[in-house]
Amino acid sequence: MDAISLVHASLGEQELAAVADVFSSGWPAGQGPMGKALEIELAERYGAGGAVALSNCGAALHLALLALGVQPGDEVIVADYTFPAPAHAVRYVGAVPVFADVRADTATIDPRAVADLVGPQTVGVIAVDTVGLPADYVELKSIADHRGLFVIEDAACAVGATYHGRAAGALAPVACLSFHGRKGATSGEGGALLTADPALAARARVWSSFGIEPIFDQARAIGLPIPVFTEIGYNYKLSDIAAAILLVQLNRISELLDRRRAVAAHYAELLADEDLLTLPHVPPDRTHAWQTYMVKLDPSVDRAGVAADLRAQGIGCGHGTWACHLQPVYDSKQECPVSADLFQRHLAIPMHAELTASQAERVAEALRTALRVHAHPQRTREGAV
Ligand SMILES: *Cc1c(COP(=O)(O)O)cnc(C)c1O
Repeated sequence: MDAISLVHASLGEQELAAVADVFSSGWPAGQGPMGKALEIELAERYGAGGAVALSNCGAALHLALLALGVQPGDEVIVADYTFPAPAHAVRYVGAVPVFADVRADTATIDPRAVADLVGPQTVGVIAVDTVGLPADYVELKSIADHRGLFVIEDAACAVGATYHGRAAGALAPVACLSFHGRKGATSGEGGALLTADPALAARARVWSSFGIEPIFDQARAIGLPIPVFTEIGYNYKLSDIAAAILLVQLNRISELLDRRRAVAAHYAELLADEDLLTLPHVPPDRTHAWQTYMVKLDPSVDRAGVAADLRAQGIGCGHGTWACHLQPVYDSKQECPVSADLFQRHLAIPMHAELTASQAERVAEALRTALRVHAHPQRTREGAV
């Protein structure tokens, strides 16, 4: 039988045509006409005061922290259950990531955990829209406003999701998007910083370009102005090739998202009565971008066994995402029991815009069979047999 991949990037003829246009334009590097068009499109789409096209979301998080003035020794509270880019970014600027546990039902940062962790060194919070589901921004904003903290939204997985009718990426004063190949809209690698504050965007843009204004603009200036380096910046520019691809992808986002939504709805129907797993929960005040579809396995189930069975049938699957505080690099003494539990029990099953109904049915059936084979009623939550 054909393999069913866990993920698939929906890139095709339209994107190829956009790339061909960039080749003939003579400006494949970053911050050219396509990069500018993308920034205008993003700013409009998100009602942002400024949008900066960047090479990836990790770079966007780094520049966001720099632009917000985070200093070595500052503490930044980060969502624990996520790809570890937020905590890494905190470490890039010499600050200390403090891990906040997540809600058991949504796997998004728990506002109560955030409130408990605020201390004298805390300067801000990075919330994550976990695998595409927005966090609790009303509660987070109220804590942040009360304690004078910034909030950054890591919307890496959430392009197309909404919270209280607003787009993910516009839910905090600074937000970061990813256009990596595993996200809902992609240029292979890519990212963006969105902010209400145009001055912050301007600072981030200069830092993304070695600390000078865009070269493309200078080449068109009259005379011979010599740009001056006033900052030690980085090279975090998005190429115009990638920007052109993203302009197409953003136009297709509602079509691509509709297809992911249909897959999620189909899985929910097919697996509704399966008592060895819990389906993802989407609170009624928000919508999911379905970057990943994660089911939570019953504690009695041997997840590795289930995964091996699925993979043996050509069905892609994965562990979901990471409990960051358990990653050795941070050497953290903190405990985030909910996140640690999800890290043990989540299973990601195939989710992408090209997954067919019959493939979803095959996944659900194989999963149900594997669950029966690998459930051990005598196993406890701690995993002792
Ligand atoms: C994928 C991801 C990132 C990193 O994005 P890149 O564009 O690959 O740097 C950051 N945060 C979260 C939550 C992610 O899932």
